[in-house]
Amino acid sequence: MRVTLLHHTHDPERIVAQAAKLCYSPSTIEAIGERLSPETVRDFIERLISLGHFSALEHAVFGFGIEGVSRALTHQLVRHRLASYSQQSQRYVRFQHLEYVVPPSIQAHSGLAAEYQQTMDKLAALYQTCLEQGIAAEDARYLLPNACETKIVVTMNARELRHFFQLRCCQRAQWEIRLLADAMLQCVRPLAPNVFAGTGPACVSGACSEGSMSCGRQRAMREKYRGRALPIPEEPAIAKH
Ligand SMILES: Cc1cc2nc3c(=O)[nH]c(=O)nc-3n(C[C@H](O)[C@H](O)[C@H](O)COP(=O)(O)OP(=O)(O)OC[C@H]3O[C@@H](n4cnc5c(N)ncnc54)[C@H](O)[C@@H]3O)c2cc1C
Repeated sequence: MRVTLLHHTHDPERIVAQAAKLCYSPSTIEAIGERLSPETVRDFIERLISLGHFSALEHAVFGFGIEGVSRALTHQLVRHRLASYSQQSQRYVRFQHLEYVVPPSIQAHSGLAAEYQQTMDKLAALYQTCLEQGIAAEDARYLLPNACETKIVVTMNARELRHFFQLRCCQRAQWEIRLLADAMLQCVRPLAPNVFAGTGPACVSGACSEGSMSCGRQRAMREKYRGRALPIPEEPAIAKH
């Protein structure tokens, strides 16, 4: 998995504070900006978040390049509707090789790992045969599995990112999208430490939202996500036919 921060709002916390302060100020927007010190930005953002006034966070926008992930992951990712996506097409791109993600559980299973690879090899061979026989890529792709490697560009604002982290950093989320959420949080937290302070699964800033399905690891989650640097996760394997 490769996650790159492609772009972001210049000085994201400053624009959030400037926009939010305008709601309560008779001044011009420019004058509000000139009066903002790093301390007032921090205090104002803390107050906004504690009051649940999240709309000003929408002015800070972050874009990510995501590669080496499975279609199983991106199918979950694009359920987050308040974001913009551009994904490598299986209609327009004719793949020469099938690259696919191997889940760590299968990789570690000596009995299944080889069979998994053989199945991928068979699918890749039939996909190539279809293309050679003149079948359009949009139909040949029906053979491509959920494991298939894909690339996607995603842009989200800070409010949506906080929501995404609550759902997808949670231990109840699927492992691959959880790795992605952690990597995205790593990218944005240094740029907007107050906006993303205490972000992570819901239990980091409040009660667990999973009820009887809770992982019961609230203390460990708080230690992990309240620290300044998240531990670097172990990568799943990417294989190539
Ligand atoms: C652990 C886990 C398991 C899951 N399992 C399943 C599953 O089995 N099957 C399945 O289908 N999905 C599943 N999902 C996906 C889930 O149902 C959501 O589609 C996904 O998490 C996106 O969340 P969202 O709708 O809150 O967020 P977003 O689309 O990111 O939207 C953010 C927020 O905006 C508001 N919003 C957005 N659009 C609307 C709208 N049209 N109307 C009103 N308010 C809106 C809501 O407040 C929403 O929470 C799972 C998700 C998780 C985290």
